[in-house]
Amino acid sequence: MAKVYYNGDANEQYLQSKTVAIIGYGSQGHAHAQNLRDSGVNVIVGLRPGKSWEQAEKDGFQVCTVREAAREADIVMILLPDEKQPTVYKEEIEPELQPGNALVFAHGFNIHFNQIVPPADVDVFLVAPKGPGHLVRRTYTEGAGVPALIAVYQDVTGTAKETALAYAKAIGSARAGVLETTFKEETETDLFGEQAVLCGGLTSLVKAGFETLVEAGYQPEVAYFECLHELKLIVDLLYEGGLSWMRYSISDTAQWGDFISGPRVINDSVKAEMKKVLEDIQTGKFAKGWILENQANRPEFNAINRRENEHLIEVVGRELRSMMPFVKAKQKDVVVSSAK
Ligand code: NDP
Ligand code: MG
Ligand code: MG
Repeated sequence: MAKVYYNGDANEQYLQSKTVAIIGYGSQGHAHAQNLRDSGVNVIVGLRPGKSWEQAEKDGFQVCTVREAAREADIVMILLPDEKQPTVYKEEIEPELQPGNALVFAHGFNIHFNQIVPPADVDVFLVAPKGPGHLVRRTYTEGAGVPALIAVYQDVTGTAKETALAYAKAIGSARAGVLETTFKEETETDLFGEQAVLCGGLTSLVKAGFETLVEAGYQPEVAYFECLHELKLIVDLLYEGGLSWMRYSISDTAQWGDFISGPRVINDSVKAEMKKVLEDIQTGKFAKGWILENQANRPEFNAINRRENEHLIEVVGRELRSMMPFVKAKQKDVVVSSAK
């Protein structure tokens, strides 16, 4: 079994008398900045003028440009969208890095795929929470935390791993468990997980089930409740106690159907396709496509995004959720994002 680190294995001394610059104040950025501050760490936030800048100031942070933050900090945590990191790094962060500083990431993409090539005289490591930013913040305030991976790419100070553990503790992750990995493993497993299971696999499974019912003449509203809404209850059970706890909780009929039909749906051909998805990640083919898509200002991304937003499951879902005030209505008109 892999070694799992908890609070007792981490020493916050490694962050004492250090200034941490959090670059970006989005999903991860606001959570890291606030958790670190509540853990007694000296935090500044680096941004460009705009919405996030205003929000970070409102939340009481010292906010400055990315360049100023990188200059002032000993530890620079880059929490910008992955596709924007290389340019901002090159223009505003790299010129300000001093020997012995630490360059930190929450995902290994840019280092692993050579989009950022750090100088040889700084520590480079990652602290990657295995959960969305708003949960990193919320669980912290509840006395809990989101598990995280740490990895060291370059260790010039001899204390990169200890600093990574201290950082993981300060954002609350060592309450839940911290695993050591490599940039390669973190990057490839993270991309695979979101593509094949958590995001891509799940949305495609839900849509295929919904479409099958609707095409067979069943009411879209019934199909929505069956294939999407109820999923949360099932996932909560998986989270609490794994497959067996979920199966214990459902009816025996449902469990028998799970055993008999699940492997027919997610069959060997699906797994063979998953292996190809993994291979595209490992060979850099996926990364290259995504980098080029951004350079072209996301024509395909935006087209698919618009089409998906108009799918019947989304139309019906928006309607039904508006009648369920207890389900937080987080629906937004799709913001068509660009690479700018
Ligand atoms: P977000 O998309 O939420 O970050 C957006 C932030 O970056 C905003 O504050 C935005 O400010 C700022 N920003 C964008 N462009 C610039 C720029 N040119 N100069 C200065 N600031 C800029 O990112 P995430 O939190 O989703 O991702 C950050 C990192 O964390 C990534 O490496 C990601 O892979 C990783 N990660 C993310 C997870 C998640 O839950 N989202 C989970 C685990 C890891 P503005 O308001 O000005 O646009
Ligand atoms: Mg990811
Ligand atoms: Mg049922």
